[in-house]
Amino acid sequence: MTNRSSILIIFTGGTIGMIRKENNYISINFNELIKYFPELDKLNFYLEIIGFNPPIDSAEINPKIWIKIVEIIEKNYTKFDGFVILHGTDTMAYTASAISFMLQNLNKPIVFTGSQLPIGVHRTDAKENLITSIEIAGSRSFGKAIVPEVCIYFENQLMRGNRTHKASSNEFNAFKSYNYPILAQAGIDINYNHSVISKGALKSLKIHKKIKNSVAVLKLFPGISKEAVSSLLKNDFFDAIILQTYGCGNSMQENWFLEELQTYTQKGKILINTSQCENGSIIEGRYKTSQIFTDLDAINSYDMTLESIITKTMLLLGESCDKKTFKNKFQESFCGELTKIQK
Ligand code: ASP
Repeated sequence: MTNRSSILIIFTGGTIGMIRKENNYISINFNELIKYFPELDKLNFYLEIIGFNPPIDSAEINPKIWIKIVEIIEKNYTKFDGFVILHGTDTMAYTASAISFMLQNLNKPIVFTGSQLPIGVHRTDAKENLITSIEIAGSRSFGKAIVPEVCIYFENQLMRGNRTHKASSNEFNAFKSYNYPILAQAGIDINYNHSVISKGALKSLKIHKKIKNSVAVLKLFPGISKEAVSSLLKNDFFDAIILQTYGCGNSMQENWFLEELQTYTQKGKILINTSQCENGSIIEGRYKTSQIFTDLDAINSYDMTLESIITKTMLLLGESCDKKTFKNKFQESFCGELTKIQK
């Protein structure tokens, strides 16, 4: 009987599973990929790998693939102590956010990682990212997982998945967690910041798989036209519009704009106020230019990332709840994705 942690690695694709051929990066399948990681055999973990065939660039990710990942985890949940998901960096923050909401009452680690340079390139960041992710997914203290939540490990930092944003397309530290402290820093040792890590749920795992994509993001900019705004607000396909406003939730006050918003909300549709700033929170009413959102009963998204807002909205729309229930649930923290900041 061994006491080694067991880890399931799910390889979806991305740069971590690519090699350079002539002038392009091309995907290789996972049987070929593991040949580049001879270290895996020496780790003191029991490892199994499931690979997507063919592997996908994460620009191709969609809700069907989130469901596929969740179903693999669901099927293997009792068999493994932790999960490592290899995923392209482009949409990793979206997938990590979605999965965190789809798997409620989690008490095992799900660590997403990838790399900025392909595995076949000399200076690749793939090896360190994968090996440390496995170590984190398998770390236990008194038999309990140290990090029982969905997270992203990248370039020495472990972050809560639904707090991350891909902030750089060329630096090794591609991800930032602007509004929540990092969960661990890896150096010679892995230093866990225990006070900010979830304690894990006592209840049994609950899976949410209903997703509805009738949501759109409208980013304001000085000089935005009535045509651009009404093309979304007047389109009845959408049940929810996420408005990316300025600063702590401010917008212009032109009559046509306020009327468009009013007509839209009077139809019983959902309006969510988020900021174009990565760091900080929506604070409605601090400036007169945000009062309209309180008056229209728009949903304050506090300090959530756009990735979390979009994916949480898709899942709540999938539940087909009424507007009031949607608002209450949206503003509740499901798994540490928001901090309510009052004026
Ligand atoms: N386009 C790649 C992807 O997201 C980029 C990467 O993995 O870094 O799959």
